[in-house]
Amino acid sequence: MPSYVIPDKCDGCKALDKTACQHICPNDLMVLNKETMKAYNRAPEMCWECYNCVKICPTQAVEVRGYADFVPLGASVTPLRSSDSIMWTVKFRNGTLKRFKFPIRTTPEGTAVPNGGFNDGSGDLKSPMLYTEPTSCGMANLPPVK
Ligand code: SF4
Ligand code: SF4
Repeated sequence: MPSYVIPDKCDGCKALDKTACQHICPNDLMVLNKETMKAYNRAPEMCWECYNCVKICPTQAVEVRGYADFVPLGASVTPLRSSDSIMWTVKFRNGTLKRFKFPIRTTPEGTAVPNGGFNDGSGDLKSPMLYTEPTSCGMANLPPVK
């Protein structure tokens, strides 16, 4: 149940060198028909349903026809991403609409906090701890590995 481009909504990313859905697909599945300027999934059977193309499309032109236990036939799940949050619109088969909004960043867009704000680790490459441990674990010290 792969991604599907709704032709009426797709504007071909206004003829950029590479469309947003082409740029983001980890499986290199999206292609642009240069004559119609509409994108499409060239190998639906290879689609992971990762929703990347759905979330990045600026015109909400991509749908994923999800598995029936997640999205029953006749229902739809549509994301709308902003710079700091994502809104999921869920349409049930009986027409009921529900919307859920979640934050997608911990810092303003275009910024990052090195180490997530945690202290650097010991710098000991032979240590079994990860770089920001133990502070990122909320502990002063981790139990020793035996
Ligand atoms: S990202 Fe959306 S608008 Fe752009 S080419 Fe792909 S489907 Fe069309
Ligand atoms: S859902 Fe993921 S794998 Fe499928 S076409 Fe979109 S970006 Fe590629």
